[in-house]
Amino acid sequence: MTIRNGPVVGIIGSPVGHSLSPTLQAAAFSALGLDWSSAAFEVPAGGGAAAVAAMRELSIRGLSVTMPLKSEVARSVDRLDAAASNLDSVNCLSLEGGEVVGLSTDGAGLLASLRREVGFDPAGATVSVLGAGGAARAVVDAFARAGASRIVVLARRSDAAAACAALAGEVGSVGGPDEAAASEVVVNATPIGMLDTSSSSSPSLLDPETLGSGQLCVDLVYHPRQTAWLDAATHAGATTVGGLGMLVHQAALQIERWTGIEAPVEAMWSAAIEAMEAS
Ligand code: NAP
Repeated sequence: MTIRNGPVVGIIGSPVGHSLSPTLQAAAFSALGLDWSSAAFEVPAGGGAAAVAAMRELSIRGLSVTMPLKSEVARSVDRLDAAASNLDSVNCLSLEGGEVVGLSTDGAGLLASLRREVGFDPAGATVSVLGAGGAARAVVDAFARAGASRIVVLARRSDAAAACAALAGEVGSVGGPDEAAASEVVVNATPIGMLDTSSSSSPSLLDPETLGSGQLCVDLVYHPRQTAWLDAATHAGATTVGGLGMLVHQAALQIERWTGIEAPVEAMWSAAIEAMEAS
C-alpha cells in the first residue's frame, strides 16, 4: 500500500487478502486523480465494534465490509440506510460529520449493472431469486425497493426462503421451479457456478434449460465470468448477465458516497478483469 496525503479508505473482514476491493478503490482514485489511499484490514469475527471505533478515531473516510462482519458491524454504527436497516447487514461504512453510517450497496449495485449492461428497468418486473443467503437477501430488497411486481424465492431451506421473501413485503413469496421459470428475471444467488459443474452433487435449484427467449438470467458469481448455469441459459435463448458488473457497481456506489464524485466505472471494470486474469 502506498500512503498518500489524502483520505484513507479500505476493507475490513476476514480473510481480506484476496479481496478485489482495494484494487477497485485504487483504480477509481487513480482515474479520478484523487490523492486517496486504500488498504485491507484483517478483522476477525467479534472485532466489528472495535473496527468502527477505530474508523472514527483515525478518521478513516470509508470502509467496505465483508464476511464475517456484515451483520455484526450493522449493530455498531450510528445509523443505517434503508436497505441496510431492512437487511440488518452492511457492506459499506461511511464517516460523515463524525457519524459512522452503515450502507448496503450490493442490491443497488446489481440493478445499476443490469441498467448499464442490458438497459433493464426493474419497475413492474416479475423476478425469481435462487438462494436465500446474504446476496439473495440484498437482491430481493433492491428489486422490491425498485418496484418489482412479484418476487419469488427458491431455496433448499424453507425457513431461510420465507425470511428472504419477507424482505419484499407483499410482493414477496416462496415458490417452486414452475413459478421461477415463468419470471421475466431469474437471479442465481447460490455459489453453484463456482463449484465443479461436472459433479451432479450440486444441481441448480432451477434447470436453466427451462428458461428461454425474453427472459433475463443473472448469475451473481463472477469467477468464472460465464458460469455453466449461464451457458445453459444462453443456449436456451435467454439474455444472460454475470456477476462482475454487480461487483464493480456496488464498489462504484461506495466510491460515490465517500467522494461525492461520479465513479469511473470503466476504469474499475478494467482493473477487476486485469486482477482476475492475473490471479
Ligand atoms: P451465502 O450467504 O452463503 O448464501 C448462499 C445461498 O446459496 C444459501 O441460500 C445456500 O443455501 C445456497 N446454496 C449453497 N449451495 C447450494 C447448492 N448446492 N444448491 C442450492 N443452494 C445452495 O452466500 P452469499 O453471500 O449469498 O453469496 C452467494 C453467491 O453470490 C456467491 O457465489 C458469491 O460469490 C456471490 N456474490 C456475488 C456478488 C457480486 O458482487 N457479484 C456479491 C455477493 C455475493 P443453504 O443456506 O441451504 O446452504
